[in-house]
Amino acid sequence: MERQKPRLTVLSGPSGVGKGTLVKALRKNHPQLWLSVSATTRAARLGEVEAIDYFFKSNDEFKQLVACGGLLEWAQFAGNSYGTPRKPVEQQLAAGAPVLLEIELEGARQVRKTFPEAFQIFLKPPSMAELEARIRGRGTELEAAIQKRLKRAEEELKAELEFDAVVVNNDINDALVQLELLMDLAGNE
Ligand code: 5GP
Repeated sequence: MERQKPRLTVLSGPSGVGKGTLVKALRKNHPQLWLSVSATTRAARLGEVEAIDYFFKSNDEFKQLVACGGLLEWAQFAGNSYGTPRKPVEQQLAAGAPVLLEIELEGARQVRKTFPEAFQIFLKPPSMAELEARIRGRGTELEAAIQKRLKRAEEELKAELEFDAVVVNNDINDALVQLELLMDLAGNE
């Protein structure tokens, strides 16, 4: 059977829904998948590593990246800026690699305009209560930041119909299998 063309996949969904955990599992199972490393003005969390988790930037550095067109998309999220460095994504796509962006809603909307062929997946929690429990359980944010993320999550959840596919992250293994199928990764090593 002819191999399907590698494509650009966008994985979006509210903070705390489990995007990071699923992306890690996807990359472990499918090393050929290239994950974009974003730039952010957010402070590094304990254990986060420069250039692996994020490129950590000052506000001025981030503004400069925006001004020189260095970002494919960018958005403000819970008081910080986040964006996808343009060049590496373009290089990976040109080289034929399957590319994954793990970004929030506004960024996904921008990518929909610039890369209409991108496959957009929305990951949603089984309920708002479960999402709140997960964000709190993670213990990485202070109360004010938790509140911002929950408010934003309510907005993001209204947008699920904009996406090509919706996956409910009730069970991490089920969600992983669904993502693999949607991304044509299953059995494609
Ligand atoms: P966190 O601070 O929890 O790492 O990320 C907060 C939110 O920003 C998450 O929803 C995450 O998907 C999103 N995000 C991470 N990188 C980017 C990016 O490059 N662009 C956009 N638009 N959102 C991003």
